[in-house]
Amino acid sequence: MSVCPCRITPPSVSTQDSSASYEDCCQPYHESLAAPDAERLMRSRYSAFVLQLPDYIVKTTVPAQQALLDSDAIAQWGKDTDWAGLEIVQHRPKLGKRHAQVEFKAYFHTDNGVQAHHELSGFVKITDKDKQARWYFIDPTVRMTVSQKQPCICGSGEKFKRCCGMYL
Ligand SMILES: [Zn+2]
Ligand SMILES: [Zn+2]
Repeated sequence: MSVCPCRITPPSVSTQDSSASYEDCCQPYHESLAAPDAERLMRSRYSAFVLQLPDYIVKTTVPAQQALLDSDAIAQWGKDTDWAGLEIVQHRPKLGKRHAQVEFKAYFHTDNGVQAHHELSGFVKITDKDKQARWYFIDPTVRMTVSQKQPCICGSGEKFKRCCGMYL
């Protein structure tokens, strides 16, 4: 049993995370289980980059953005990056009715030592037609042609600017 990629942190980072195995951590989400909160989804997306599971990255992005993602480029990026670990800086699990934010550092090796992507990501909980609620990543790099006053891309029925637009 190997340690889940999302539970690995560089030696310079102190963390209280237990070293859960992949089987006990991200694998169930990669197989089909709905992540119960934004932090779990963030962790499982990081692990999916490390393990090169681009389909999981696509499937956990807001459905309206999925067709605009390039899964080959996602796979290539995951492969070209020499990942060094993940640190969750802060998880804000409930922002308004359906949003959450996760601040994290994704570490990678470079010729000049370990560096980090430090990001604050937005997530939205969407209830599908089977009444199951799932968390999705709101990808700020995807160009959406929706205007601020149009209905939101998440299907909430609210105006974009009052909903996911606040997290892009
Ligand atoms: Zn994990
Ligand atoms: Zn929305």
